[in-house]
Amino acid sequence: SGIFASNGGMETEKTLAMIKPDGLRGNYTDRIRRAIVESGFRILKDRVVELDEDRASQFYAEHSSKSFFPSLVKYMTSGPVCVMVLEKQNAIADWRAMIGPTDATKAKATHPNSIRAMCGLDSEKNCVHGSDSLQSAHREISFFFEETVWSKSETSHLSQVFY
Ligand code: UDP
Repeated sequence: SGIFASNGGMETEKTLAMIKPDGLRGNYTDRIRRAIVESGFRILKDRVVELDEDRASQFYAEHSSKSFFPSLVKYMTSGPVCVMVLEKQNAIADWRAMIGPTDATKAKATHPNSIRAMCGLDSEKNCVHGSDSLQSAHREISFFFEETVWSKSETSHLSQVFY
């Protein structure tokens, strides 16, 4: 009992999960959200947004010099994405483990139960994203949920789209 009663005294952590355009197009949203909840995460916030070229480039700024960058930006702007703030103990590492390796063809071979194995296609179209560190989780949650520039491009909250 006491102030930490809700999580047994262990600190929870937040991470940013994203269902990328191919995931939304392929109708994987329900399955992914069910897997998230069944794995003990709480979905604290969610929204569906469309990234324009500038915002997609900002989100993946660390890859801006890579040869795959222009194609990645095109992919990420090809349709709406669903972003979610997930919370549980060890959320960052556990969500990364659930989604599997970046290259979905590798995921299908080595991590058949991962989300990228279920709905990803290749090393680019891998259907989901997860923050890879505490620092990126903070940056990415703020990128989607603490800035106000979304009002124009925001489609709507997920609950209004899918439920
Ligand atoms: N990506 C790509 N080609 C590559 C590697 C990555 O198009 O050779 C894309 C892919 O969509 C990936 C994203 O760039 O999810 C970010 O790459 P990162 O290495 O950060 O992988 P992640 O953290 O998403 O597993």
